[in-house]
Amino acid sequence: MWRAVTSLGLLAGAFASAAAADYTGPLFDAHLHYNNEACTHDMPAPGCPHPMTDVLERMQRNGVRAIVANSRPNDGTKALASAREQTRQAGVTVVPFVRLYRDRADYNNWFRDPTIVEMVNAELQRGTPAGPYRGLGEFHLYDSANANGPVAKQLMALAEEKGLAILAHVDDAAIDLLMANTPSKGRKSLLIWAHTGIGGTPVARVDELFARYPLLVGELSYRPGLTCADGQLCPEWRSLLLKYPDRFLIGSDTWINQRWQYYDDLMRGYRTWLGGLPGDVARRIAWDNGARLFGVASPNP
Ligand SMILES: [Zn+2]
Repeated sequence: MWRAVTSLGLLAGAFASAAAADYTGPLFDAHLHYNNEACTHDMPAPGCPHPMTDVLERMQRNGVRAIVANSRPNDGTKALASAREQTRQAGVTVVPFVRLYRDRADYNNWFRDPTIVEMVNAELQRGTPAGPYRGLGEFHLYDSANANGPVAKQLMALAEEKGLAILAHVDDAAIDLLMANTPSKGRKSLLIWAHTGIGGTPVARVDELFARYPLLVGELSYRPGLTCADGQLCPEWRSLLLKYPDRFLIGSDTWINQRWQYYDDLMRGYRTWLGGLPGDVARRIAWDNGARLFGVASPNP
């Protein structure tokens, strides 16, 4: 009996330490901004907090091997997409998206401003040295009704027609409205839901939307309620990720410079809860899902 208790105790200990081991594989940062205040110079310069060398070093030391790059204005994305030699050396594949914002004023007006469509079309036509743009966004809708703005409608249709992904920071009501504005009514639209309902969309409602739209994918930065004790997933989120292991992505959301300063912590946080998942599920959420969506080859270990 004593022996049985001891071996059970040892077994429990083994499980605990297995759960505590961080995920160590590659990461796909599916929500990265390289905005102008980060300063997108090639090399360190005075007053330039996060030049290219700095941000690539942060990605490299965290095992981030691919990124969805977008920026306000699009210059930062173009800088990353143009730095072919530097990104190759850092082992980072750049998947460029067209941001809908030239400046902060565009956050509140893009969905009805026809000059945004002109900008998007010009960027799509131009492409980048890292290849064609693969998506539109991130965009925000602070009022979900603006999903029916004329430019929002036009861009949702354009994205589906051209096979572009959408990266949207919106609430659950806007997901339905945006999807309704696509030719397939959301059946064929790849929409990455930034923060997967940051405003507190209940997990059951996320589940309902995932069931309704087969190409709806959830990005998990800034998601309240995602993690609980010891930085591990809360039970209901863990269940949802296990139910849809092919539908989630991780991201840094470097929307302000402070997020660059904490990039190591952000990635460490992901590695912690990814380590609490079955290995194949962790790998899919960390890397495979993004790689599959955008055709990125897996890095050599
Ligand atoms: Zn963002």
